Amino acid sequence: MTRLAIVDNNKLKDMALKKHIQSLCPVNRTGSDCMYFEGSKLLIDEALCIGCGICTKPALEAIHIVNLPEELKKEPVHRYGKNGFALYSLPIPINGKVVGIVGKNGIGKTTALKILAGIEKPNFGIPGAEASYDELIDYFKGSEAQGFFEKLKKGEVVISYKPQQVDLIPKQYKGTVKDLLVKVDEKKELDKMAEVLELKEILDHDISKISGGELQRVAIAACVLKKANVYFFDEPTSFLDVKQRLKISQFIRNLVNEETGVIVVEHDLIILDYMADLIHLMYGKPGAFGVVSQPKSAKGGINVYLSGFLKEENVRFRDETIKFEARPPIDMKRMHLLTEWEGFKQKLESFELVAEKGNIYKQDIVGVLGENGIGKTTFVRVLAGEIKGHELEGLGISYKPQYLDSSDELVMSFIPLAVHKYDAQLVKPLGLKNLLMRKLNELSGGELQRVWIAKCLSEDSDLILMDEPSAYLDVEQRLSLGKIIRDMLKITGRSALIVDHDLLFIDTISDRLTVFEGKPAVHGKVTGPFPMEEGMNHFLDHIDVTFRRDEESKRPRINKLGSQKDKEQKRTGKLYYS
Ligand code: ADP
Ligand code: ADP
Ligand code: SF4
Repeated sequence: MTRLAIVDNNKLKDMALKKHIQSLCPVNRTGSDCMYFEGSKLLIDEALCIGCGICTKPALEAIHIVNLPEELKKEPVHRYGKNGFALYSLPIPINGKVVGIVGKNGIGKTTALKILAGIEKPNFGIPGAEASYDELIDYFKGSEAQGFFEKLKKGEVVISYKPQQVDLIPKQYKGTVKDLLVKVDEKKELDKMAEVLELKEILDHDISKISGGELQRVAIAACVLKKANVYFFDEPTSFLDVKQRLKISQFIRNLVNEETGVIVVEHDLIILDYMADLIHLMYGKPGAFGVVSQPKSAKGGINVYLSGFLKEENVRFRDETIKFEARPPIDMKRMHLLTEWEGFKQKLESFELVAEKGNIYKQDIVGVLGENGIGKTTFVRVLAGEIKGHELEGLGISYKPQYLDSSDELVMSFIPLAVHKYDAQLVKPLGLKNLLMRKLNELSGGELQRVWIAKCLSEDSDLILMDEPSAYLDVEQRLSLGKIIRDMLKITGRSALIVDHDLLFIDTISDRLTVFEGKPAVHGKVTGPFPMEEGMNHFLDHIDVTFRRDEESKRPRINKLGSQKDKEQKRTGKLYYS
C-alpha cells in the first residue's frame, strides 16, 4: 500500500455533497469506481486512487489522501474499517518504568492504549479481521512488543485502564463515589486510596454532583484499585490544578516496580517530563494515520518533540522548532496603567474571597495560578462584572469563561470579527477554517475551546479575561496558543489576565503573575500581580518545587525533590531558574 484514503462518513452526512464529490473524481470520470457507495457511505478504492486530492477540498476535513513515507509501506497494526484511521506500531509498557506518550489529538494515542488493553482487537488493516496473539507475536518479532504479547498470551499481563473522558463517568454509573469504588476494589485498599487521593470528604457524594478534578481522582482510584501489573492513564491531569498534578505524578511514579509498569498519555509537558522515564512520540496526520516512535529518554524525547524532527526515523513532523527564551523582566517604569482595583471582599455562601489592591498595565499579560476551589473564577467574574459590586469600570472586557456555552449557532456567525479581520492571526493558526460551517453544539471540547479563544481575542475590548484556555487542548495546540495570544495582544495593544494550570503555558505567556492562597472551598486570597520571578518564587514555594531551564530547549523543568539543584535553589531562595 503506498497511499491511504481516509473517509470520515460521520463528518460527511449530506448525500448531495457526497455525490458531488464523487462526480469530481477524475478516475470515476474515466468510468472506474474509485469513489463508490456502500449503502449511504462514500468510500475510496485505494488501489484505483491516483492521489490527485481533488476530493479533499469540498470534503473539508472528512477526506484525507496521504502518500505514505517509504518505511510505512507495510500493513498497519490496525485500521478502523475501510478507509478508516490507520495505526502503525505500538508503545510498549516496561516494568519499573513510567512510559509517556506525547502527540496531537487524533493521532491514535487512545487507539494504541485500547489495543494493548485488549479493548480494540487489531486487524492488520483488514476490515473485520481479528489478529490472534500468535499473529501479533509474529508481526512484532524482534521488538519489545514481541515479549509483551507473549506475556499477554500466557496471561502474565493484567492491564487496568483509566480512560481519557472522565466526564462520561456520571453517564455510565449512578450512585455515590463509594458505591463505584467498592465495586472495583479488588485490592481491598479503598480506605488507603481515598486517603492518598484526597477523596475521603466526597465518598458519600453522588457521582453526578462532583467536580471535574474530583471525577479525575475517582477514575484514577478506580484504575489502581484493580489488581493489575500494567496501568494505563489516558490524560490523568485534565481538570487538576498544579498542586494536584504534581501529587498525581508522584502517585503514578510510585506505582511502578519490578513487576509493574505504567503508560501515560499527557499534554502538560512540564508534568510529563516530571512523571515519565521514557517517552514515545506519536506523529503522522491526525484523523488519517499515526506512527509511534522508538522510546526515548523523557528529557531527550521532549526536546525532540519541540524540535519537530525525529533523527532516527528521519521524519520532520513540524516545520518549525519550538524554542523557549529567557525574557528579561518587564520594566515597570515604562508601563502605563490600564486599570486598577481597590482591595475587596466577596462572599459566596460559605466561601470568602479577599483581593488585595492590584492593577493591570497596558499591553500587560498577567498569568493567574492557584488551586482549584480557591476563588480564581470568582475573582475573574468579579472583574468582568458577572458578579456585581467591584467590576472594573470604564473598560471594555472580553471574557472567556471556564465552562463554555454552546448552542446550534454556526461557528461562522459566532466569531464574525475573527473571520473578517483576523484570518491569519486567529482562524488559521487556531485551525478553525474547517469548523466555520459547523454548529457550536456539535464541536468537541477542544474545538469549542479554540472557537471561544478566537471570539475572546477578536472582540473590540481593552482587557481580555480568560479562564483555563488550555483545557481540552492537545500538546501542540497548547504550545502554539501562547504565541497566538501574544501576537494578537501586540497587534491590538490590549492587556490580558489568564488563569491556567499548565505551567509551561503560563510561563511562556506571562509578563507578571497573580497568585492565590488559602483553603479551597473556604477562603482564598489574591495577591499580586507580581513581577514574574517574584510571583513564581511565591507560587513554587507554596508547592515545594524548584525550576531550572533545560540547556538545549531552554524550557522550564522541575528539579527532582531533594536533588542538588533543588537544595541549592532553596538555599539561595531562587526557586525559579538558577
Ligand atoms: P488520540 O487519542 O490521539 O486523540 P484516537 O486514538 O482517539 O486519537 O483516534 C485516532 C483516530 O481514529 C481519530 O481520527 C478517530 O476519529 C478515529 N477513531 C477512533 N475510534 C474510532 C472508531 N471506533 N471507529 C472509527 N474511527 C475511530
Ligand atoms: P477556582 O476558580 O479557583 O476553582 P471558584 O472561584 O470557582 O474557584 O470557586 C471558589 C469557591 O466558591 C468554591 O468553593 C465554589 O464552590 C464556591 N462558589 C463559586 N461560585 C459560587 C456561587 N455562585 N455560589 C456559591 N458558592 C460558589
Ligand atoms: Fe479520486 Fe483524486 Fe480523490 Fe483519489 S484523490 S479519490 S483519484 S479525487
